[in-house]
Amino acid sequence: MAAALRNFIGGQWRDAQSARALDVWDPSTGERIGEVPLGGSPEVAAAVRAAREALPAWRETPPLDRARAIGRLRERLEAAREELARLVARENGKTLEEARGSVRRGIEAVEFAASAPVLLTGGSLRNVGRGVDAAEFREPVGVVAGITPFNFPVMIPLWMAPLALVCGNTFVLKPSERVPFSAERIGRLAEESGLPPGVLNLVHGGREAVEAIVDHPGIDAVAFVGSAPVAREVYTRSAAAGKRVLALAGAKNHLVVLPDAELRPTVEAIVGSAFGQAGERCLAGSVVLAVEPGADRLVAALAERVRSLRVGPSDDPATEVGPLIRPEQCRRVAEWVERGRAEGARTAAVGTVPTGSGGFYHPPVLFDGVRPEMTIAQEEIFGPVLSVIRAASLAEAIEVANRSRFGNAAAIFTRDGRAAREFSHGIAAGMVGVNVGVPAPLAHFPFVGWKGSVFGSLAATGREALEFYTRTKVVTTRWF
Ligand code: NAD
Repeated sequence: MAAALRNFIGGQWRDAQSARALDVWDPSTGERIGEVPLGGSPEVAAAVRAAREALPAWRETPPLDRARAIGRLRERLEAAREELARLVARENGKTLEEARGSVRRGIEAVEFAASAPVLLTGGSLRNVGRGVDAAEFREPVGVVAGITPFNFPVMIPLWMAPLALVCGNTFVLKPSERVPFSAERIGRLAEESGLPPGVLNLVHGGREAVEAIVDHPGIDAVAFVGSAPVAREVYTRSAAAGKRVLALAGAKNHLVVLPDAELRPTVEAIVGSAFGQAGERCLAGSVVLAVEPGADRLVAALAERVRSLRVGPSDDPATEVGPLIRPEQCRRVAEWVERGRAEGARTAAVGTVPTGSGGFYHPPVLFDGVRPEMTIAQEEIFGPVLSVIRAASLAEAIEVANRSRFGNAAAIFTRDGRAAREFSHGIAAGMVGVNVGVPAPLAHFPFVGWKGSVFGSLAATGREALEFYTRTKVVTTRWF
């Protein structure tokens, strides 16, 4: 891993103009692994200039050739799969298995992008009037910027850039400053795959770079994934500046367990959902709605499993729960736990953490007796904390879940098909699991939140994302 990073602008690796930089840490050990430059307006302006210069030729490149270029990127990503997974595990702290899975999902998004030309075709109709034909074309939006979060350092940039590029846009990526090395590796692979200079640009930075992006008149569209307050700000400010914008935000995902659910696999699925990636996942189940009778049995089984969870470094194959991204996040989670206790939640189980490692660990916590109005039941904690609310019926469970201001994902555990149908129809969430704890859609399907989990009307992957990265033109033709 290199110690310092550069921006990739117009096909060249350039030192940032700004002298400001931030340390990057290995969350498993607490070791400093390098530093990231914090770019701002000058770096963003240079990247936008390069992207604008590259745009005319790239948008005229036949879609099949653009798709072939993305195919070459896919080959390189595939060859670098294990290396990327190790990088993600090191700088993000998720387990190597989780990192491998996330890189796989990212490459699937590139595969979808490489096959996208088939979806770029538009419709046409002859004789919309006498001797008049109409044809619809999908054209690129222009220069697109992607702003990404720390929790999927490879997958989320790969949701965005390849699809935007195959549609004929040029792209500026601003990755999370907490996991910049994975993004730099993507930049290197894009360079090796022979993408023309300026088609894909990379600018490192934090808030200042984001503000420069949302305000820059040379950027036509902004794709964002991150926390709810920043998503709201990016959405409103970009829209006010006349940009197309899609901003995926936070979550509070509910897992409903009916009394007839199969106990063992259900407990494993819930624990995987809530504590996998230490809860730093927008699809993490963080509230269990245990429908009576049966909550006591479920809580007892969950508590036993939570106490046995192996918390440890990302590269230990025995680790089930890795560290959190930074010590501040550990402190924030500890504050949430305190708050839960103060609000009257009962601590049903607390896991253990490795001692003396220097890593950023927080033990898994299971709360029972949580009530819907408690803040721990409403706010995104983004850590290894699971709350159990008891409900008298499926209808009550759905009603409680639907009161959430978020609507990213939800799941039901049951053997009753009719109940599962009632749930999947009645729940106000975009991604629904039936006996699946992390209902992450394949890249060909829409990754889609509802309510406060998204600002914008389209999904981040699949056909809807393709709509985001293109604009439609209808040509009406008559020949005299
Ligand atoms: P974050 O909002 O802190 O950061 C996201 C991006 O915004 C980063 O690139 C960061 O540099 C930038 N940023 C941070 N603070 C900013 C500010 N004040 N002004 C302007 N830009 C700023 O999010 P994070 O902590 O990196 O990621 C975790 C969050 O992302 C969670 O809330 C999670 O639910 C959400 N998330 C959502 C999805 C989804 O699909 N809905 C997927 C992954 C993550």
